[in-house]
Amino acid sequence: MSVRPYRDIQRRKSRQIRVGSVLVGGDAPISVQTMTNTLTQDVAATVAQIKAAEAAGADIVRVSCPDEESTAGLKEIVKQVTVPIVADIHFHYKRGIEAAEAGAACLRINPGNIGSADRVREVVKAAKDHGCSMRIGVNAGSLERDLLEKYGEPCPEAMVESALDHMKILQDHDFHEFKISVKASDPFLAVAAYQGLAEACDYPLHLGITEAGALRSGTVKSAIGLGSLLWAGIGDTIRVSLSADPVEEVKAGYEILKSLGLRHRGVTIISCPSCARQQFPVIRTVEVLEERLAHIQTPVTLSIIGCIVNGPGEARETDIGLTGGGQGHHMVYLNGLTDHKVDDPQVIDHIVELVEARAAAIEHERTLATAAVPVAPAVPVAPAAPVVPAVPAVPVAPAAPVVPAVPAGV
Ligand code: SF4
Repeated sequence: MSVRPYRDIQRRKSRQIRVGSVLVGGDAPISVQTMTNTLTQDVAATVAQIKAAEAAGADIVRVSCPDEESTAGLKEIVKQVTVPIVADIHFHYKRGIEAAEAGAACLRINPGNIGSADRVREVVKAAKDHGCSMRIGVNAGSLERDLLEKYGEPCPEAMVESALDHMKILQDHDFHEFKISVKASDPFLAVAAYQGLAEACDYPLHLGITEAGALRSGTVKSAIGLGSLLWAGIGDTIRVSLSADPVEEVKAGYEILKSLGLRHRGVTIISCPSCARQQFPVIRTVEVLEERLAHIQTPVTLSIIGCIVNGPGEARETDIGLTGGGQGHHMVYLNGLTDHKVDDPQVIDHIVELVEARAAAIEHERTLATAAVPVAPAVPVAPAAPVVPAVPAVPVAPAAPVVPAVPAGV
């Protein structure tokens, strides 16, 4: 039983598929995707954008393949990146075949849009031959004419029916390695469509509020739409669509997942808005810390609070805390407990050092734990050697009474 049941999210049970090295669905972590906006035939520019997105945490990246030059470029691109690449195909079945041959991990293609059964068969065969999954991508803005006539306008029922029609085509070809999206720019429509689809099938769902808008407005709209679905347990992979750099999409995706406790990556900063009581410039400090700590991938929580009104309470819940104190002396908390003071001029450098040390310590412990598991063959010869060996422990750890041999200092 969870200590905090109000935070529990019961994920919808979905099938699991593979997008290259990334598992999607089932109990796999919810993956974060983005899409390049370079010309795919411009291999150098596209690779640079993919690598930047990957460095920001993207698990999967999609590239457009509207023509033969693009699928030729894709072949070079996949050799130069490690993140799985999804080829965005739309109508041209030959581009789908070329993309599968070029090494795409997944094809974004709607089988109902590519023409005859023979064409579908050829694309499915190429996907099977090359270990390529697919995404059926229904979009409210491009629903089939017969569905628009039947329903009068894009509505959740029409979107679900469209998705199920495409799904049936793949199932009829005995192809089940696919995920589905039913995107709309209207979050009400998208959420209702995803809810309906989640009921109607067990395929993994790729969430997105399409054409969500600019950085700020699109992020808010996506957080509302994707957030409500994810909170209800719906969604296996997400893309935040913004009129902004793909790196911003990845950051926004992670923030949504982090806010719901579904993924943890990098430093999560809890900070107050500041007011006349602040004992140091909170806003500027947080801005600089975000920048200086952007390279940390290990999950670490950090509270930066301007005064004692809320500082100790927030610090109690974070790995590292800073609370503004009088006369330029501020309190540093480690693991929720008061530890030492830091003076104004050293605040930024000191907090950066603490966070970097904490992240390194966590990674060190993780490596040891991973290494320890297969090595211990549970041979009952040696009397149980203490499981907590003389690990050169966490420099940031507070007075850890469990490992007395280790100096616990800052
Ligand atoms: S924690 Fe203190 S400084 Fe920050 S907003 Fe609240 S009262 Fe103001």
